[in-house]
Amino acid sequence: MKVIDTHIHYGTDPNVASSTCVPYLITGQPDSVIRMLDEENASHGVLFPHDRVMSPPWDADYDKANQQIGEAVLKYPDRIAGLARINPTFGAEHTQKLLRKYVTEWGCRGVKLVAGYDFYRPNDLKVVGPMLDICQEYDLTVLFHSGDAPRDLPYLQAQAAKAYPNVRFVLAHIGMHTYLHEAILACKEYENVNVDMAQAWPYDIRIFLNHVGMDRLTYGSDTPYQSPEVEQLKLKVIGLTEAEQEKVFSLNARRIWRIA
Ligand SMILES: [Zn+2]
Repeated sequence: MKVIDTHIHYGTDPNVASSTCVPYLITGQPDSVIRMLDEENASHGVLFPHDRVMSPPWDADYDKANQQIGEAVLKYPDRIAGLARINPTFGAEHTQKLLRKYVTEWGCRGVKLVAGYDFYRPNDLKVVGPMLDICQEYDLTVLFHSGDAPRDLPYLQAQAAKAYPNVRFVLAHIGMHTYLHEAILACKEYENVNVDMAQAWPYDIRIFLNHVGMDRLTYGSDTPYQSPEVEQLKLKVIGLTEAEQEKVFSLNARRIWRIA
């Protein structure tokens, strides 16, 4: 069975990261994404920029980083689903213009958000509403970094999902251990909330599946910060049937990320 990796960063900040788990994965080299997908037995990958503004911070709205995602998608449209890193505090007009451009020019499939780095609250609809309007209009999926206080918290993020019931949301890392049960609550209360298991502990993944069921969790490696081999092993040691493994490794991702 081929897997779908729903959490891949397109390299890191070379001025900050001294080493990574997948050192050959480098921004601006689409072939390195395909090499990584092949090595982890993945049919598709969901690709987005490094989470923080690259240093020096000339690319504050992530536009240059997003264009590099676009180049990779246009070179390998059958393997890579691309997301734009968005900072919605640039305001409605700027944010909507960027997102429309990405959708039109390279088929952008969703947005990656890190409220802690960009200083807003994910439940502040004045800030995130205009961006979510575009997500609704173009059927884009919203990926929240999730599990860091005080901004990147599952239950704050769930309020955005509550306000936009037709938009699909993903809380990365199942709330990063400390907020596991907030992520479980968010998924139980709102049908449009899902999670990826990147960086989560095997025990936490099992607890999540026990509470929420098999349809809302996807495999994600968080490459190049984590090892795809290790992240895949976590889903293989928690006693899933073959049919359940197929859901979390591939079928759920096809639905959440519109992969044919
Ligand atoms: Zn990540």
